[in-house]
Amino acid sequence: MLELKNVNVHYGVIHALKDISLTVNDGEIVTLIGANGAGKTSTLGTISGLVKPSGGTVSLDGKELNKIIAPDRVSLGVSHVPEGRRVFSRMSVLENLELGAYLRRDKAEIRKDMNNVYELFPILGKRNKQMAGTLSGGEQQMLAMGRALMSKPKILLLDEPSMGLAPLLIMEIFKIIKNINEIGTTILLIEQNANMALSIADRAYVIETGRIVLSGTSKELLASEDVTKAYLGG
Ligand code: ATP
Repeated sequence: MLELKNVNVHYGVIHALKDISLTVNDGEIVTLIGANGAGKTSTLGTISGLVKPSGGTVSLDGKELNKIIAPDRVSLGVSHVPEGRRVFSRMSVLENLELGAYLRRDKAEIRKDMNNVYELFPILGKRNKQMAGTLSGGEQQMLAMGRALMSKPKILLLDEPSMGLAPLLIMEIFKIIKNINEIGTTILLIEQNANMALSIADRAYVIETGRIVLSGTSKELLASEDVTKAYLGG
């Protein structure tokens, strides 16, 4: 469904992505793992439309996205939860969720999706009227994910959802990511926490200084000595 073919990104003289090719099939969780600065966020940006490639193509269901602006990509089914969970801090939880659906007109379906979000994240229901900026870090991550789901995405792009969270909370967030996938959303997850990411993903790509250096099923990568040494602390 999602395909990147030889995607390159330059920031001035910095060649941040070098011929990135990857695919995410319908129904999969795919993870892109790599160290700080390897190019993970830039890769997601080329998919959601926040970063303009200097070469290569990004396509969804065979339709090329390169010339389509970011908000229109949301309508096509691409939803991006950025790093650092940028929620609207002076708006309530409910208002944040409603904003996630701002491009939609199907009121009954929106209500159904809102209920699904409350089922996935019961805490958001309890905190419905609370200002988003007063939520804990973990709750804000859940709200950012809930808001992204309100656009009814075909593919959800998650940028380091575990960042800055306590281990127990990380386990909870990953369990919810798995649930979101099981009820029908395809996921591309980028993570520095390779262990957790590989534990829920079907397949994975490893990115190093702007290049994909390894790919395979999560099982294959967990068994690879190179990956264990570089990314799994072994
Ligand atoms: P992190 O986990 O630290 O966010 P990352 O793997 O997501 O890292 P990117 O943020 O994609 O990596 O960055 C890839 C490279 O491009 C880095 O060397 C970074 O410094 C550079 N870079 C990213 N954004 C810009 C920008 N707007 N201008 C200049 N250089 C940039």
